[in-house]
Amino acid sequence: MARIAVGGFQHETNTFAPSKADYAAFEAGGGWPGAQYGEPMFSAVEGANIPAEGAIQALRALGHALVGTAWAAANPSAHVTADAFEKILNELVQRLKSAMPVDGVYLDLHGAMVAETFDDGEGEILRRVRDAVGPRVPVAASLDLHANVTPAMTRHADALVAYRTYPHVDMADTGARAARLLDQMLRTGQRMDGEFRQLDYLTGISSQCSFMEPCRTIYRELGELEEKGGCTLSFTPGFPMADFADCGMSVFGFSKDRGQAGVAVEKLRRIVADSEKDFAIELHPVAEAVQRARRRGKPGAPVILADTQDNPGAGGNGDTTGLLTALIQQGAKDAVLGLLIDPASALLAHDAGPGATLAFNLGGKSGIMGDAPFRGEFTVERLGDGKFTCTGPMYKGVRMTLGPMAVLRSRAAPGVRVVVASRKQQAGDQEMFRHVGIEPRRSRIVALKSSVHFRADFQPIAADVLVVKAPGPALADPVEFKWTKLRKGVRLRPLGPVHA
Ligand SMILES: [Zn+2]
Repeated sequence: MARIAVGGFQHETNTFAPSKADYAAFEAGGGWPGAQYGEPMFSAVEGANIPAEGAIQALRALGHALVGTAWAAANPSAHVTADAFEKILNELVQRLKSAMPVDGVYLDLHGAMVAETFDDGEGEILRRVRDAVGPRVPVAASLDLHANVTPAMTRHADALVAYRTYPHVDMADTGARAARLLDQMLRTGQRMDGEFRQLDYLTGISSQCSFMEPCRTIYRELGELEEKGGCTLSFTPGFPMADFADCGMSVFGFSKDRGQAGVAVEKLRRIVADSEKDFAIELHPVAEAVQRARRRGKPGAPVILADTQDNPGAGGNGDTTGLLTALIQQGAKDAVLGLLIDPASALLAHDAGPGATLAFNLGGKSGIMGDAPFRGEFTVERLGDGKFTCTGPMYKGVRMTLGPMAVLRSRAAPGVRVVVASRKQQAGDQEMFRHVGIEPRRSRIVALKSSVHFRADFQPIAADVLVVKAPGPALADPVEFKWTKLRKGVRLRPLGPVHA
């Protein structure tokens, strides 16, 4: 039995997004539990598809004693403020130091954090953790599939492993995998060494889905290489919205035999390099997407419109109105859009009550170029308190607290309903609609503020999925961002122009 310190600090940073992640954002948690310190973190994540929970269960099953340090996560947004970064990391490191001696450390990290003061957030987290425990204690971390992995991260950790699914249905499984690597190092007394390669092109997140090509094949081949290679392998397509030197795709592997890891990692790098052209994706202009959905969608087999550029899971605030405006202008029938994040409108609906018809200034409050509030009359159809538990494959068991919610029906286009929530959350689970009395399957058109995570729960009910390019801060084509810190020589989209 070993004594293992457990901690976590997750943020996915879109440096081009409108709002930063301050300490309050980590206290809110963004759909996951709010910031936790010490023992309470174990019960806070219990039963959820969260990497730390997978690791905790695996380590306990292997007979280890656990010490909770700090665990915190916030919704994707612009930079983590210096204040939030130092507060949370100091808690984690201080609690780790007072727990010493420990035999090992497990960390639940995202891998794409940019803090106001550190471009490579996780590099700095791992550096300080390594500094606290010294060179002899093994440190293993799990990472998101959207990690932008850096040389510092691989240098300070003994082992890193990333999710292999997008939608991320394997978050807890990945935590468990990191935990087993830690256990293996402790049992055998053999440390691991890593090999790491960056790819030289960026891909938009909409084309990174692991049940579409090319990722489906890449992850299958990764599994085969791993079985043969005696090495744990990861491929991270990365998060192409973080403006810093190491943004982008990478492959890495850890093994007690560095030579073996090098061979497997190079094979995997070649597979990803050869897949470049297959990462291109079709993006639909708003008006055309709504026209197609109106023709094609039927109750029982809706067309899903993914409002990818305002995805709260990629730094959007979930309040742009481009897609809503097109649905209303075209008089769509049996259409529902969600979640539109607008606490003021939710409150207005709660004050007016069900049945009331009144003027709303819906959404459009984040100052996004080309976007504005949608002004119009809506009838308040139904209210909710925003408290429910998700049931889809990815968010299963997560207890949501989205604040006051409301269903609003457009007076100008009575076939269009909007599900308004008060706290930012990606529309990735059907319960977000059922909570306010809407069964998504019965609609002809379901418009979702999400890029890919929705596919876990919504793709099975969809006749078709169209990725829509409406105004928002999470640009689907990385070429369109104004990169200033990215390393030179990277192609800004598959087979696209080179960043000079
Ligand atoms: Zn992710």
